[in-house]
Amino acid sequence: MNQRRSFLRSAGAMLGASFWADEVLEALPQKTNTSSKPSDLKITDMRIATIARAPMTDPIIRIDTNQGIYGLGEVRDGASKTYALMLKSRIIGENPCNIDKIFRKIKQFGGPSRQAGGVCGIEMALWDLAGKAYGVPVYQMLGGKFRDRVRCYADTTESDDPKIYGQRLRARRDEGFTWLKMDLGIDLVKDKPGALSYPAGTPLGGGANTEHMFTGIELTQKGAELMAEFVGAVREAVGMDIPLSCDHFGHIGVKSCIKLGRALEKYNVAWLEDMVPWQRTDLLKEITNSIAVPTCTGEDIYLKEGFVELARAHAVNILHPDLATSGGILETKKIGDTVQEYGIPMAMHFAGSPISCMANVHCAAATENFLVLENHSVDVPWWSDLVEGAEKPIVNKGFIRVPEGPGLGVTLNEEMVKKHLMPGTGFFDPTPEWDKERSHDRLWS
Ligand SMILES: [Mg+2]
Repeated sequence: MNQRRSFLRSAGAMLGASFWADEVLEALPQKTNTSSKPSDLKITDMRIATIARAPMTDPIIRIDTNQGIYGLGEVRDGASKTYALMLKSRIIGENPCNIDKIFRKIKQFGGPSRQAGGVCGIEMALWDLAGKAYGVPVYQMLGGKFRDRVRCYADTTESDDPKIYGQRLRARRDEGFTWLKMDLGIDLVKDKPGALSYPAGTPLGGGANTEHMFTGIELTQKGAELMAEFVGAVREAVGMDIPLSCDHFGHIGVKSCIKLGRALEKYNVAWLEDMVPWQRTDLLKEITNSIAVPTCTGEDIYLKEGFVELARAHAVNILHPDLATSGGILETKKIGDTVQEYGIPMAMHFAGSPISCMANVHCAAATENFLVLENHSVDVPWWSDLVEGAEKPIVNKGFIRVPEGPGLGVTLNEEMVKKHLMPGTGFFDPTPEWDKERSHDRLWS
C-alpha cells in the first residue's frame, strides 16, 4: 500500500499539479517534444541562409519560436529571399501550428512562378515546426502515406549528340532510375537547312518573355522529323520500356507543337512539358487533343484554381506543380486530390535543397495520384550532406525514402551549409529591418 502511495506521489510530481488540465492531453503522444507546449508556441523570428550552386540558388528559411524549436523552409530555387522576408512582420506572434490560418493570411503575397517562393517557403517551415511541436512527421499530419519511397527522375546534362545524351540517360537507368527526362529544343535543328522558319533576327533561345505563339517560329515537317530522330537515337540507348519525358522545346507555335508531337508518337514519350504557357488552356487542349502523346504543365502555377481549370478542361494529361510555387505542402496535396477527381495524375517539379525536397517527399507520400518527383542535384556530391536525418544518399537508386522524424524529418548540417553559402551572405543573420514592414493588407471591404 505504501509502495502504491509513493508511486502515485512520484507520478503526480512528475506530471505536475495540472494532471487533468489540457497540458496533459498535449503531452500524451510519446514523441511529443516536452520542451514545447504547442498551444503557447509563438513565432519570434525569421532568418535566411542562402545556399549557392546546389546547382541552383536556394534561400533556406528558419522560423524561430519562443520555445527554442524552429522550422525550416525554402524559397523556390532562383527566387529572391525578399519574397519571404517581406512577410516576416505578418507572421511574428502567430502560433506556427495554425498553418492554414497563416497561409490564408499571407497567400495574397504570392503569384506565379518565383513570386510565390516566400509564401510557400514559410508554409513548409510551419509544417516542420508543427511536426516538431507534436512529434510527428509531416506526411502523418496530411493523412498518412500511400508509399514508403518516392520515385524520382533526374535532370541530366544535355548533349547535341544523341548517342552521348542517350548514354548519360542510360547511366541513370542503370543507376536505378525508373523514369527519365530529356531536354529536346529546337536549337538541335537550328543549323539544319529547311528545319525551321522564323522572321529573320528572331532569337531562337526561347525569347525570354515572348510567348510561344507570338515568336513566329515554326517547325517544318523535316524539322519535326529530325527532332523525333534525335529522340529515336536516345530510345536506342535507354530502351522503349522506360518512361521518357521531354521538356524545353523552345518557343514554337501551336501547330508546330502538334507536328512535333505527332512525329514523336512512335517513340512512346511519357509527356511533353510546357509546349505553350500554362495560362493558355484552350491552346494546350488543342495540342492535347491532336496528338497521341501525353502533355504536361504546371511548374509555374500558384494555387489550386489554375490547376482546377486545366483539369476541368482536360487541357493536359498530367499536372506538374512545383510545391515551392503551387502554394506549399497542403495546397499541393489539395491540387493532387482535386485533379485526381478528373482522372489526372500529379507529377512534381522540383529544383532545390534537401529542405524543399523533403517538403515534396512528404506531400508525394501522402497524395495517391502522385507519379514522379524531379531532382536536379543528383550529380552535386555534397547535396545530401546539407542535412542530417535522411537516408543517404537522399536519392538512392532513383527513389527517396520517406523520413520518419518529426516535421520534415531533417535538420541542417550547419558546417556543410556554411561551406556552401552564397558568397557575401551570412548564416541566418538577424533580420530586424523586416520586423515592421506593413501595408493595409485588406482584400475586400
Ligand atoms: Mg520544365
